[in-house]
Amino acid sequence: MSVTDYPDFENCYRPVHVLSKSEHCLNRADIDPDALRILYRLQKHGFIAYLCGGAVRDLLMGRKPKDFDIVTDARPGQIRKRFANVYIIGRRFRLAHVHFPGGKIIEVSTFRRDLTNVEESVPPAEITPELLYGTPREDAFRRDVAINALYYDDQTGEIIDYAGGLEDLSERRVRIIGDPAVRFAEDAVRIWRVVRYAARLSFEIEEQTARAIPVFAAELGTCAGSRLYEELNKEFAGQTRPVLDALRAHGLLRHIIGRFGEEFETDDELFGRVRALLDLKDRAWTEAYEMTREEMYALFFWPWAESVFAGEAGDLHAVLDRAFDQAKTQAVFPKKMRMDIAQILILVAQMKKALRTGRMRWSLKKRAHFEPAFRVFHMIEYGCPAPPETTFDILMGRESQPVSHIVAPPPIKRRPRRRRRPRRPQ
Ligand code: ATP
Ligand code: MG
Repeated sequence: MSVTDYPDFENCYRPVHVLSKSEHCLNRADIDPDALRILYRLQKHGFIAYLCGGAVRDLLMGRKPKDFDIVTDARPGQIRKRFANVYIIGRRFRLAHVHFPGGKIIEVSTFRRDLTNVEESVPPAEITPELLYGTPREDAFRRDVAINALYYDDQTGEIIDYAGGLEDLSERRVRIIGDPAVRFAEDAVRIWRVVRYAARLSFEIEEQTARAIPVFAAELGTCAGSRLYEELNKEFAGQTRPVLDALRAHGLLRHIIGRFGEEFETDDELFGRVRALLDLKDRAWTEAYEMTREEMYALFFWPWAESVFAGEAGDLHAVLDRAFDQAKTQAVFPKKMRMDIAQILILVAQMKKALRTGRMRWSLKKRAHFEPAFRVFHMIEYGCPAPPETTFDILMGRESQPVSHIVAPPPIKRRPRRRRRPRRPQ
């Protein structure tokens, strides 16, 4: 396939740029040993295998990657034969998940290419998996931004750059590969991803890319709800506040979380409260305090829920459910997640009320969401995660402080007694 098959990419066609081992700072020791094992085994069987995507970008920047994705010319079936715990996933494009003990999954994907317009128009049944596989160059050009299209060859220690990602990294900019208008029209989630990378890495958005964002922003809301929800989860798996600020500044929140987004974008006071809670969450995250996804979402939605609850005495669950429906979020939250968030929010409201009035329905302690709700409540009420031995009972004065919380009085320092010298007999 020649570059002219990609009319949109004519402008960004450039010769491949390869950095030798001594010309970059990516340290092999920072790569997950299981990822190295996969690379080694694929290469041993004669396949090309590179580390790719966010991992290479992050390692070159001295950051800790979230995951280590691998790309290869081996087909999913060939990958499956080489490893014990492989699951092939994906309907249109199949890729391999290699499972490791402890729940770790490493994604191994075959080099892939974007279909041309002509190919896109054929009936889906005619699109065979073979048609979707590509060369390393094609794989680079189907990626979203240039800084994500870098490959690391662990055998030679080389960094391979087809799309100008190295230059963008050194210029600290996020640039869509190809014509931003075409790439955003193809997939508007890329708009969000551009904004995310710029915010997370404190990079500039390249001019043409930035100009296309407001033009295609509304398209974001038309993307599949489940995909938008998956992308939203990614915001909560790292530092959330800087990206939420950026999404708000670009007017994208309204296209992701509907009316919540509109309110967050127009009501500074409300968003100020959301921001403060997200800062707490981000601080807890840097201090390795683990929060579940439902706890994080409950924290995020608390300022809104608090205003929904104001003056409501009836079935809070129904009230919350109705208000959530009315928000018409484009990101579709799974039913179970919505239920969990709602349960936590309702319990938090009850805990806050109990703290005010001194009265509590202690039967609520039996609820499965009581513990997560207490953790969220503590962050909202006290601005920090609950210390491990603090319980709601203790805060309500129902239980005494655990023994380890009782500070032992400092030992009294006595001067060593002087031995009396026996009297000399007179
Ligand atoms: P993170 O640090 O958040 O994991 P990442 O760059 O690895 O960042 P992923 O969401 O894990 O992001 O995606 C892996 C890679 O897949 C990206 O680096 C990018 O090259 C490619 N990619 C993901 N989404 C898109 C998209 N919508 N269009 C084109 N390429 C994409
Ligand atoms: Mg990733």
